[in-house]
Amino acid sequence: MARPSPLEIYALLDKSNCKDCGRDTCMAFATDLLERNVVVQDCSHLMQDPKQFKKRDKLIKITTPPQKPVFIGIGERKCIVGGEEVLNRHQLTYYNETQIFIQIADDENDLEEIAKYLAEVKLERMGDVLRVSGIALRCVSGDAEQFRLAAKKLTEVSDLPVMLACFNPDILLAAAAEIKDKKPLLYAATKDSWEQIGKFAVENNLPVVAVSSDLDELISLSATLQKLGVTGIVLDPTTVFGPGNIALTYDNIMQLRIAAIDKEDANAGWPVMGVPAAYWSQVKIDDDKGLWEHQYQELIMGAIMESIDTNLIVLHSGKRKEDIWALLAMMTLRQSIFSDPRIYPAADPGIYEIGEPTDKSPIFVTSNYRLTKIPVEIDIKGANLDAYLLVVDSEGIGIESAVAGGQFSAGSIAEATKEFKAFDKVNHRILIIPGMAARLSGALEDEADCFVVVGPRDSSGIGKYMQEQWKPKEFMEQYEDLKE
Ligand code: SF4
Repeated sequence: MARPSPLEIYALLDKSNCKDCGRDTCMAFATDLLERNVVVQDCSHLMQDPKQFKKRDKLIKITTPPQKPVFIGIGERKCIVGGEEVLNRHQLTYYNETQIFIQIADDENDLEEIAKYLAEVKLERMGDVLRVSGIALRCVSGDAEQFRLAAKKLTEVSDLPVMLACFNPDILLAAAAEIKDKKPLLYAATKDSWEQIGKFAVENNLPVVAVSSDLDELISLSATLQKLGVTGIVLDPTTVFGPGNIALTYDNIMQLRIAAIDKEDANAGWPVMGVPAAYWSQVKIDDDKGLWEHQYQELIMGAIMESIDTNLIVLHSGKRKEDIWALLAMMTLRQSIFSDPRIYPAADPGIYEIGEPTDKSPIFVTSNYRLTKIPVEIDIKGANLDAYLLVVDSEGIGIESAVAGGQFSAGSIAEATKEFKAFDKVNHRILIIPGMAARLSGALEDEADCFVVVGPRDSSGIGKYMQEQWKPKEFMEQYEDLKE
C-alpha cells in the first residue's frame, strides 16, 4: 500500500481544528500522524463520535505500516519492535532501531547484578544516549520454579523489557504468569506449542515469538496465531552458524522483510528477530582461541543483522563490564544505521560554557551541525581550555556547506551574538571563527561590531592555535584602532 499523503489523512479527519489533540489544526495532526508523532487514538472526535468510526477505521488501516509494530515491556523503557515501511533506509527512514536484548541464563549466580548493570549501562555518543533495549531470560535450569523466580527477580531489579525464552510451554507460561503485568515477549510458539502459548498470549495481551527454520511453516504459524487472536507476533526464522549458514540466515531474514514490506503479505507483516547468541550453543568452543575471538564471531552476525534492519537481536556477549566493547560496537553501529536520513543532526543553538570560563576567555564560533559542534567541544576540552562556544543556528548544516548556502553567515553569527548575549560574558569583543568560514570575517566585524580572528580549519588544531596565536590584548588594540 502506498504511503498516504497528509491530504489523504486530512480528508478523513473532523476538520474542526478543535485542538483537543494538542495540535493547532487538523492538518498539523495529519502531518504528525504520518511522522508517527501522534496516533489516531489521539483525535477525540474520531474516537468518541460514532458517526466517525468508519473514517477512524479507514485511517488506522491506511496508516498501519505493512510490517506491524510490536510492543514489549511497560513504562519508559518499553520498546517498539518493527513497524517499518521501507526495505532500505534511503527510501524514507527506519522508524525503530534494532532492539538489542542481552541474554541471561536463569541459573546465573549474579543474575540480579547483571540485570542492574544492563539497566543502567549507557553510552553517550554525538549527543545521543545509547542503551541496551532488554533482557532475554533463557531457561537453562529446566526447572519451572527456578525460571519463574529468575523472571520475578529480573523485573524487581530492572525496568528493562524482558523476553522469556523456553521451549517447554509449561515452564515458559509459569514464568509469564508471574510477570505478565510487565508485558514480556514469549519465546517461543512452535508447531507443537502454538495453541497453549497463543491462548495464554491472547488472554493476557502479550506478544509472542513464532519460530521455525522452515519459512512456510513460520508463515503458517503466524497465520494460526493471528486467527487465535494474538495481536503481537515476532518472527524468528532461526539463526545458524557454520559454512554457508550466514548467507542462509541473511536470506531468510530478507525474505521475510520483503514479503512483509514489498509484497504486503499480512502473515509475514511482523517484525523479524535474530539470535547471534546461538553461536555459543552451535559451535564447538575451541579453547585454543581467545574468548574475544568467539565473541567476534557472534558480533559479526549481530552486525550483519543490524545492517539489514533485523528488528530484534539477542546477544550473549556484553552482559559483563569487561565486555563493554561488545555493546559499544553494536550500539554505535546501530546509531549510525538508524539515524534519520531526512534530518540533519542538529544541536541546540546557544552559548555553551566549556570548563570554567571567565570574562577573559575566548569565544569560539561554530555551526549547530551536531557532528561539528560535538567534536569542536571535545577538542576545546582536550586542549584544556576554559572557553565559550557560540553555536549558531545553521539549520543543522556543517560549516562548509552552510557558508556556501548562506545558513552560516555574518548575519546569522551576529544575530546569535545578540540573542545569546555573547559579549556580556567577556571583557573583549573577539570572535574566533572556523578556518572554513574565513571569508565571513570582514562582514562579521561590521555586523557584530567585533574583532574576528580566523581559527584552524580543523578543530583538532585548536590547542596549538591558542598557544601560538591567541593574543587578546593585541587583537583588542587592533579593534580599537579600526573603530577610530
Ligand atoms: S482532535 Fe481531531 S478534530 Fe481536533 S484538531 Fe485534532 S485532529 Fe482535528
